[in-house]
Amino acid sequence: MSRRARFLEALGITAEWVPRARDDAPQAEVVSEAVAVAAPVATPVAGPVTVAAQAAAPVVEAAPAIETAIPLVPVAPVAAPVSRAPAEPSLVPAGPEPDSAQAGREAAIAAMAWPALDAAVAGCTACGLCQTRTNAVFGVGDRQAEWMLVGEAPGENEDLQGEPFVGQAGKLLDNMLGALGLARGRNVFIANVLKCRPPGNRNPEPAEVAQCEPFLRRQIALVRPRVIVVLGRFAAQSLLRTTTPIGKLRGTVHAYEGIPVVVTYHPAYLLRTLTDKARAWEDLCLAREVHDRAGAGA
Ligand code: SF4
Repeated sequence: MSRRARFLEALGITAEWVPRARDDAPQAEVVSEAVAVAAPVATPVAGPVTVAAQAAAPVVEAAPAIETAIPLVPVAPVAAPVSRAPAEPSLVPAGPEPDSAQAGREAAIAAMAWPALDAAVAGCTACGLCQTRTNAVFGVGDRQAEWMLVGEAPGENEDLQGEPFVGQAGKLLDNMLGALGLARGRNVFIANVLKCRPPGNRNPEPAEVAQCEPFLRRQIALVRPRVIVVLGRFAAQSLLRTTTPIGKLRGTVHAYEGIPVVVTYHPAYLLRTLTDKARAWEDLCLAREVHDRAGAGA
C-alpha cells in the first residue's frame, strides 16, 4: 500500500481517492473559517519577525509580508484594509512598540537554554491564562528534530495532561506523522502558539499571543528545524502575522525566522471535515518536499 493510501486510510478515507482539479475556492467549512477571519481585516503590523532568505530552499521571502514564496498555488497579496466594522479580533499582534519591560522580557527569553525556558513557561504569569490553567503545556518531542509542528493552544485534555495534541485529535496527528514515516518524539517537536488553555477553548486573544510568542520563537530557535508545519488557522495567522484565510495560506511555502513554513489544517478540524483530509495529505507532501530540499542544501 502506498504511503498516501496509508495516510488516507488512517484518516478514514478508505475508498479510492480520485485526484481532482486544484481548487483554491474554500470548501464550505473553510468558507466559514475564512469569513470569521476576513471580517476584521486589519493592517498587518510589522513585527519582530525577521526573515532571512535561504540559499538552498527556493523560498522567496519578502519583508514584511511573508506569504510570498514559490507558491504552488499563487496567493493574492494581502488586501489593504477594507472594513473597520468591529468583529472577531485579529490575531496579528498590534499596538505600540513594546515598552522596555516587555523588551527586556523578550530579550531574556531569547537567551534562555532549554531548562530555563521550560521553567519560565511553567511559572509564567504574563497573561491572564495563568489563572485558569491546570498545566502550562510546554511542548514535547525531539529537541533536535528536523520537523516542528505548531498548533494553536492546549485544549481540555492537553491542559489536564500537560502535553500537546492528546485525545482524538492527537491520535489523528500521530497517524499523520506515521504516514510520513515520523513518530511523536522521534525527529519531531510539537508545540503550540499559546502554552496555556483559553477557558472554554475560546479563541486566543491578540494580547495573549503577543505575550506567549517569545516562548515559541525561542523554541524554534533552539530546535532549528528544517521545516515547520503549522496546524490550523489561528496558529498560521498568528505565526505568520497575517489575516489571510487558511485556504489561501495552504500550498505555499512561507517562512518564520528564515525557516520554511507549510500550513495545513488542524487535526481537530479534519476530524469534522472529511472533504479536506485529502488536502491535508497534499500539504504534508509539500512539507516533505521542503524538508528534503532543505536537507539536500544543508
Ligand atoms: S499563555 Fe503564555 S504568556 Fe500566558 S500565562 Fe501561559 S505561558 Fe504565560
